[in-house]
Amino acid sequence: MKKIAILGSTGSIGTQTLSVVREQKDIQVTALAAGKNIALLEQQIREFSPRLAAVWEEAAAKELRTRVRDLDVEIVSGMDGLLAVATDKEAGILVTAIVGMLGLRPTIEAIRAGKDIALANKETLVTAGHIIMPMAAEYGRRIFPVDSEHSALFQCLQGAALNPVRKILLTASGGPFRGKKREELRHIQPEDALRHPNWNMGKKITIDSATMVNKGLEVIEAKWLFHVSPDQIQVVVQPQSIIHSMVEFEDGAVIAQLGTADMRLPIQYALYYPERRFLSGDRLDFTKLKRIDLEEPDTDTFRGLKLAYEACERGGNLPTILNAANEKAVAMFLDRKIGFLDITEIIETCMRDCSRVEHPTVEQILSTEQEVYEYIESRW
Ligand code: NDP
Repeated sequence: MKKIAILGSTGSIGTQTLSVVREQKDIQVTALAAGKNIALLEQQIREFSPRLAAVWEEAAAKELRTRVRDLDVEIVSGMDGLLAVATDKEAGILVTAIVGMLGLRPTIEAIRAGKDIALANKETLVTAGHIIMPMAAEYGRRIFPVDSEHSALFQCLQGAALNPVRKILLTASGGPFRGKKREELRHIQPEDALRHPNWNMGKKITIDSATMVNKGLEVIEAKWLFHVSPDQIQVVVQPQSIIHSMVEFEDGAVIAQLGTADMRLPIQYALYYPERRFLSGDRLDFTKLKRIDLEEPDTDTFRGLKLAYEACERGGNLPTILNAANEKAVAMFLDRKIGFLDITEIIETCMRDCSRVEHPTVEQILSTEQEVYEYIESRW
């Protein structure tokens, strides 16, 4: 029986992972971690019987301990709690469905503890791909992509043997503001940006999709996962989210993965690789599918994508600066402290002004994050 631990079990990816577990019936959940939603975590503990569960604050942990005192489950808290879940002795796979750079240390410790990673938490690879990928190789561990585009690429590469990839075609929906120009985005409010046309996701990634910074983070993620250079990664807007991504080979052949917009597929593929199991839900009906549109992204309007390419090319701690600035700016936008266009403005300013490090260690990545946060707080 497969045994998994989940960081971020109460979120969009976390709950969909548990619905795969519920449907397949042969995965044991050994440990769960969440932030604040202890009501849902309690339900999950009652349904899936993990031996260990973590929440962020000790006060919440205390309340949860009282709620589940009839069960045999240990409740822990804080970063130590996340690390305990990530390195839980029983689990073979860690699903990293937590949001943001918070996932960095737990992911590293999980690899060190011999876990394979089903990776949704892209911010970890964006900031520390140069540490995580060699480390996974050293410990003989696999990183299975959960991001739908990267899972698609991973699926396209099955059977490719050692044939080199010529180009990765990373598809993007274009988000809710596709076709709009910069000036039209000036007065966008959080509720407008949270309305994604195709996917139902957590708030942070939904805003990232609206700015297209998400696609930029995915370019950097793809560079690490598939060992390609930024100029081999082309973003193509595919508004219906039917083509999840494509790989072009040396002979010009292009292999694509298509499907409905359902995150349970990449999650299930990551958990059962290389096996493909039945998954309930809608199927693509090619007789009803009227069209599949493809467009170039508008990087003048969605400057975050251009900035991410720059960070990807220049490397060092620049992707961390971009990512940290974005995390902070998105939180401020959701709190209505800044406007929509300020998000990319802040990223650009931080990329220009914050200290550069060529080969950052984990400590330097975390201190870069701190510097970026302090810089933003002092200026905006
Ligand atoms: P959500 O916001 O829906 O969920 C985030 C999860 O992280 C929740 O369980 C939340 O707990 C938990 N969390 C937040 N802060 C803490 C903390 N301090 N300690 C412990 N747990 C914490 O995010 P998503 O599921 O949308 O995204 C998760 C990751 O997956 C992101 O990196 C995203 O980019 C990536 N991803 C998501 C996709 C999607 O379809 N949603 C698609 C591809 C990638 P709580 O709610 O209890 O506070």
